[in-house]
This record gives sequence, C-alpha cells and structure tokens, in this order.
Amino acid sequence: MAATLMDGKGLAERIRAEIAEEVRELGEIGLATVLVGDDPASDIYIRLKHRAAGEVGINARDIRLSSQTTEDELLEQVEQLNADDAIDGLLVQLPLPDHIDEARVIRALDPMKDVDGLHPLNFGQLTLGRPTHVGATPMGIMRLLEEYDVPLEGARVVVVGRSDIVGKPVSLLLLHANATVTICHSRTRDLPSVTREADVLVVAVGQAGVVGREDVCEGATVVDIGMNRGEDGVVGDVDPAVAEAAGLFTPVPGGVGPMTIAMLLRSAVRAGRYRRGLLAFPGG
Ligand code: NAP
Repeated sequence: MAATLMDGKGLAERIRAEIAEEVRELGEIGLATVLVGDDPASDIYIRLKHRAAGEVGINARDIRLSSQTTEDELLEQVEQLNADDAIDGLLVQLPLPDHIDEARVIRALDPMKDVDGLHPLNFGQLTLGRPTHVGATPMGIMRLLEEYDVPLEGARVVVVGRSDIVGKPVSLLLLHANATVTICHSRTRDLPSVTREADVLVVAVGQAGVVGREDVCEGATVVDIGMNRGEDGVVGDVDPAVAEAAGLFTPVPGGVGPMTIAMLLRSAVRAGRYRRGLLAFPGG
C-alpha cells in the first residue's frame, strides 16, 4: 500500500487566501519579527514569513539585530514593540545567541502579541484546555489532520519530541482532541516499540531517518515535522520509505512547513482581533 500524501502546500494556499480576505476586512494588521544574529536557517524562515505576510496584506516589520546585542538591548526592543500600536503580532526568532536568556525574553513579550504562543500565560492557557495563542507548527499539524479527517478521539497518538515549540504544544492539542497521547524523547527506551503502536505518529526530532519503514504500523498516519538540511536539500525526520506502510504521510518539503507559515499569519490576524477587542483575551 502506498500512503496518500497530505498536501500541506495546497491547503496552506487556500488558508492564505482566506487570511487575505480577513486582513482586508480588519484593516491594517502589523506583524514584527526580531532576529538576533545571522543564523542562515533562521534567515530563511524569516524571509519566508515576510514574503507570505506581504502576500496577504499584513504589514510585516523585519527587525535584525547583531549577534553582539545584549539581553538588555533585546528586552528594550521587545518593550518598544509591545508599546507600538501598529504592531499586533510579535515574535522573536529562536534560537537566541547563548548569552541571552530565552525564557526572560519570552516572559517580556506582551502575551496578546505573542503569536508563537510561548509566553507562560499562553502556554498555561493551552495546558488548561483554553487555548489563546498557540504556536504555528502545532496548529498547522492539527489543521492538516482535520483536513484529512484523521480520527483522533480515542486514537493512539505518539509524538516523538518534546520541544516547547512543537512536541509539547501539539501533544496538548491532541490530548484536548481526546487522543491517547504518548510523548517520546531522547531518553525513551526502545522507541520503535512505541511508534509501532501509533494510529497517528507525529515526529519532531531534527534527525533524518529517526523513524524508519519498520517503525510504523500499516495504515498509520505519519506527520513529519523535521527539516534537516543535507546534501540532497531539505529532508524530514522520517524515512520516505515509510510511505509504503503508512495510510497518510506528510511530504518534506510541502507538508507541515507551508502550514506553519499559513498558521503564523492566522495568529497575527488573531492578535489583531484580540487587540481590537473583537475576541476576549484573558486578563486583557
Ligand atoms: P528540538 O527543540 O531540538 O527538540 C527535539 C526533540 O527531539 C527533543 O525533545 C529531543 O529529546 C528529541 N530527540 C532527540 N533525539 C531523539 C531520538 N533519537 N529519539 C527520540 N527523540 C529524540 O527540535 P524542534 O524545535 O522541536 O524541531 C524538531 C524538528 O522540526 C527540526 O528538524 C526542526 O527544523 C523542525 N521544525 C520544523 C518546522 C516546520 O514548520 N516544518 C517548525 C519547527 C521545527 P530531549 O528533550 O530528551 O532532548
């Protein structure tokens, strides 16, 4: 059996068209990104985000700071953007240079503008099952699963990876969708014995081939988040041969990646709604 590929690219295009319409209705929406240093992968992500934002009519501000920027200087920049009325959504591209405390910077973000959903208030709301801003990648994964009518209620879902940006938040969303969720990580013993139990397998590790053909059960839905740059371009975490066993499978590229960008734009619009009082924000 060959898996059906989950077309994130096509779905993301449709979502972006919807967002363009929403932006027209709302008027000006401002999104600021802050990149510290010159990490080439981060530079590519920021460019993609800005191009997509421009295409849907979002005013995107691309703030670049040198790798020598101090933590206090970055906090000052965040404070300025928090106070800037033209900015609805705000994200600080991670990872930050080692001399900057990421947690402190994230706590400094205005939660209402925190489109990555990393501020403790937004993360707490997600944990409580009352999500506000949730990261774009986990939202993109859920939207793809919905699009392909993947049953989650009571399903055995295995998430490999427990990062704050992907593994943890998507696990919580899946839990709230009534899946039975198992979270795996680098200390998990005998990973294949766990992944083989999955009706739905979500892999966010950052290592090509961490899940192979023999590690999934026949007909499973396999969502590959990995983006690993190698000689052959970008490859996922899952061996593409998994498509021989899986029922549904996300290609890399063209699966979760485009969905992430589309959902970030959606979060910027959501931030605009929070800020205009069109949606209630806790404590806002
Ligand atoms: P991360 O912060 O490095 O987290 C990786 C996770 O994988 C950690 O929880 C780690 O466990 C776990 N892990 C490492 N080696 C493992 C192994 N051999 N077996 C099982 N688990 C293992 O990475 P991330 O930010 O979540 O990103 C993961 C991948 O997704 C990367 O390739 C990244 O580029 C990609 N990504 C793609 C998108 C997109 O839009 N498509 C968005 C974000 C990220 P410990 O916690 O024990 O260390």
